[in-house]
Amino acid sequence: AAKREGRGNFQFFSPAMNAATHEHLLLENRMWATLENGGFDVHLQAQVELETGRVIGAEVLLRWHDSELGSVEPGRFIPIAEESGLILPLGDWVLARAMALLAEWRDDGMDHLRLAVNLSARQFSGGALLSRLDELLAEHGIDPARMELEITETAAMRDPENTRRLLLQLRARGFKLAIDDFGTGYSSLAYLKLFAIDRIKIDRGFVRDIETNPNDAAIVDATIGLAHALGLGVIAEGVETLAQWGFLRDRNSDEAQGYLFGRPMPAREFREFVRARAQPVPGP
Ligand code: C2E
Ligand code: MG
Ligand code: MG
Ligand code: MG
Repeated sequence: AAKREGRGNFQFFSPAMNAATHEHLLLENRMWATLENGGFDVHLQAQVELETGRVIGAEVLLRWHDSELGSVEPGRFIPIAEESGLILPLGDWVLARAMALLAEWRDDGMDHLRLAVNLSARQFSGGALLSRLDELLAEHGIDPARMELEITETAAMRDPENTRRLLLQLRARGFKLAIDDFGTGYSSLAYLKLFAIDRIKIDRGFVRDIETNPNDAAIVDATIGLAHALGLGVIAEGVETLAQWGFLRDRNSDEAQGYLFGRPMPAREFREFVRARAQPVPGP
């Protein structure tokens, strides 16, 4: 029986799975090397006030260009970093980079802008997050209200009680808090009330067909209504067209982010972008 079982197990490792495991290990090794060599980078994507198109801040998005693999999408490497635990040092690097950027901006009179940083479930459940954030705030002299921490709905719901506690502690520090990719995960609406969050990010999957798909339109409409009824702000992700902007503005979404307003770009370019956008742009 043992032999048969062994065989059965062996068959489980199909060629396709070997290839996946191989790629996984390769990416993991290259990520460690990149981290050691300081080869990761972040791009910034503008977040705008919906009414005026005025830039109010940016989301920090990790970027990886590997000397051998070329550019690798976050959608491909973040899950592997999460699985392997590498997301902890990597996420820490992102937080430090964001704090350093905020310090630069403060010294250059750009301290009206806020930076949003993505946190992974691992960082959130790790226990080291609060003390590390305290350390970074002190090191860079940053007002925590200028940093927003994003946690996905799925990560938040993994351990709702831990999430609730940690969000309260982060809020007590003065950080802004957002639920990312709202509507894509399993979540209990009751938790929205219990979580100390400032705003909801509507996933771009609902925004894409907002003008043609009545279900998506209804979901976005209801989410905005729910958020406002709970005293939360709303930002819509993935806004690519003037028509989507117009729709969201008519529904009183507060803010937006998407290619229409700006692609993710290197920090230096973002500075120029903000300067150039000092005048309001004509909307829909
Ligand atoms: P996210 O946090 O939901 O970030 C928004 C994603 O939507 C970004 O993809 C951004 O480039 C993309 N996007 C923004 N506007 C548009 C648009 O108008 N159209 C379309 N089609 N896409 C748009 P990106 O940079 O590839 O990141 C993917 C995901 O990887 C992020 O989703 C986030 O979950 C994760 N990620 C990125 N950086 C970090 C990080 O530093 N830490 C962690 N834990 N996760 C990160
Ligand atoms: Mg995000
Ligand atoms: Mg998102
Ligand atoms: Mg996403």
